[in-house]
Amino acid sequence: MSEQHSQPPVGPSPAGKLYLVGLGPGDPRHLTPAARQAIEASDVVVGYKTYIVLVRGLLVGKQVVATGMRGEVERAREAIALAQGGHTVAVVCSGDAGIYGMAGLVYEVLRETQRPEAEGPEVFAIEVVPGISALGAAASLLGAPLMHDFAVVSLSDLLTPWEDIACRLDAAARTDFVLVLYNPSSGRRTEPLVEARRILLRHRAPSTPAGIVTAAYRPGQQVIVTDLEHLLDYEVGMLTTLVVGNSATFRFGDAMVTPRGYGRKYNLGG
Ligand code: SAH
Repeated sequence: MSEQHSQPPVGPSPAGKLYLVGLGPGDPRHLTPAARQAIEASDVVVGYKTYIVLVRGLLVGKQVVATGMRGEVERAREAIALAQGGHTVAVVCSGDAGIYGMAGLVYEVLRETQRPEAEGPEVFAIEVVPGISALGAAASLLGAPLMHDFAVVSLSDLLTPWEDIACRLDAAARTDFVLVLYNPSSGRRTEPLVEARRILLRHRAPSTPAGIVTAAYRPGQQVIVTDLEHLLDYEVGMLTTLVVGNSATFRFGDAMVTPRGYGRKYNLGG
């Protein structure tokens, strides 16, 4: 049985096609076959230079549009214009395209620019291709920290006011969610993590296990299991994801594990 799950075309008759592709954490073994196929099927690949490098082996004979960090909006507009012109375009980003990725931005730009009555070359199909997000990649390297309810918060205040971030951190900590923190630092900015830790300590013991994963499944990968008290003793960067346990999370050797609750129902020791 095979089913097509691509979203309906934006308009009646598709000309080009726009794939929004998550590449996973970085290692080609974690690039899904569907993501690979989408890139292979495209004649143009658009992305931030660092991500383009991750798939350079797939780019032979393709037009490549690589831009720098601040060029997301520009990249989204260009990809849309190319798809409108009849091209098959893959917009690539790390992890999952729909988790702090390019997928939502492309839809936002489309909403602003597409005329509802648009016909002909303005019309194309969109398909979002999922990838392994940093949260899954980091969790796998830490053991099993996301076995119970968790919340994900980006500490980047470039697009979200810090008061909102602080409020969400406080709510998630108060309700005992395991926390995944994306974007803990942009360049030399360390205050967000200092402040996040302070908020979490309002509701959580300093001995709460915490994992710090940098460059998961990439050269230079680093995995640290520590606790909330010592969270700031380690370096974090643009490629770091943190996981802070809930009140039940425990350390087991090098691993960090959040129990699902089986122990309450079953005698796990046999
Ligand atoms: N779309 C991406 C997230 C982009 S936001 C995804 O789904 O994973 C960028 C943030 O993702 C980084 O600041 C970092 O917190 C996290 N990240 C991306 N790649 C990573 C990797 N290889 N290892 C650890 N964290 C990573």
